[in-house]
Amino acid sequence: MDRRRFLGWANSALAAFGIAGHPLQAANRMTEGEDYYDKLGVAKIVNAAGTYTALTASTMPPSVQAAVARAAKHPVRLAELHRAAGEYLARQLHCEAALVTSGAASGLTLGTAACMTVGNKAAVHNIPADLAGLKNEVIVQKAHRYDYDHAVRNCGARFVQVETMQEYEAAFNGRTVMTHFFNAAESGQIGREDWIRVAHSHAVPCFNDAAADVPPISNLWNYTRMGFDLVTFSGGKGIRGPQNAGLLLGKKDLIAAAVENNSPHSDSIGRGMKVAKEQIVGMVAAVDWFLAQSDAGMEAEFRRRADRIAAQLKSIPTLESKVEIPNVAANVVPHLLIRYDQQRVKISPTAVAAELRRGTPSIELNPATGKKQAGGLPSDENTIVVGVWMLEPGEDVIVAKRLREVLAKAAQA
Ligand SMILES: *Cc1c(COP(=O)(O)O)cnc(C)c1O
Repeated sequence: MDRRRFLGWANSALAAFGIAGHPLQAANRMTEGEDYYDKLGVAKIVNAAGTYTALTASTMPPSVQAAVARAAKHPVRLAELHRAAGEYLARQLHCEAALVTSGAASGLTLGTAACMTVGNKAAVHNIPADLAGLKNEVIVQKAHRYDYDHAVRNCGARFVQVETMQEYEAAFNGRTVMTHFFNAAESGQIGREDWIRVAHSHAVPCFNDAAADVPPISNLWNYTRMGFDLVTFSGGKGIRGPQNAGLLLGKKDLIAAAVENNSPHSDSIGRGMKVAKEQIVGMVAAVDWFLAQSDAGMEAEFRRRADRIAAQLKSIPTLESKVEIPNVAANVVPHLLIRYDQQRVKISPTAVAAELRRGTPSIELNPATGKKQAGGLPSDENTIVVGVWMLEPGEDVIVAKRLREVLAKAAQA
């Protein structure tokens, strides 16, 4: 029997005893876990895009992964964990109260539900279908309407749209339950401070969706300190917690009302937005990790990655690269922008993105690639955009090599 056949025989013998593969591999799977991406045939990608939900957003740093794995080993009382995590986060993030949600989208739903039901526990059962006696109008700037409106509408709320300050002042009435602000909106006439001041003069709470708006780290308290009554952040974007976690920060009474509308309360709008103990602990651990970083340190690291990739592309004719930070409030980190003469290097940026996606390993470039002015970046149909901040150590080299291969080949065509 040759060596290969012997190993095959040994493996089937082990399999017969219920021990698949080499005993050492089996032991490895016990401690590190089996690679289910491989087992399921799912491609592991290089994320040169950013914290996009469809690309599973971010990966958790090792300390967060370890905290999650450790939390998975023990049952606890869920209410006690939620309360302790909320109190800890409120202290760390300098706000009155906090709740770990299943993401910023559920933060929007729970926060809206809180505004609709605060001081009226019976209403928790009634929303979204039975709105008798409940306020349900949410004032928003026209430029702040977005896909996440649905998370607010889930509660039976309806939007009242305004553009000017005059329209805003006139929009308040006895049905107004909340005002909503999209922190990373690219336009809108009314600024944050004015928005809050007018709402508070009508005793109406203000919500700010800042889901993707760290770094800077201080944004975790800037908006609650500014006066927003509720602020939500995605846990799985820049903070690098579990993808299905988020933060709802704000006033004590509203956070308490959000808790009433959340899992494990079965008769509530949030029951399907369950947050498991692993996510709660992971979110807290991620905040600890994030607060231990510095804005300058993160920016310097992302610039180093962008520079390393740019250096590898110097030999491509006509190619120019620059590092840009988006001029909106979201994803405020260095991105690498690459341009070249397509008469000379005969491939379009979107075709480059497709090539990189097809390669091994499969690489995802930033979706602003080949698009005009996307995400606050000065991109256009002739620009490749590399998001470097979600790359794992060493992956900048892989991205640079693939870009150079594809562009060099197109330069010879
Ligand atoms: C990503 C995002 C959300 C949703 O966040 P999740 O944590 O995925 O639920 C909501 N609002 C904005 C502006 C976002 O960018």
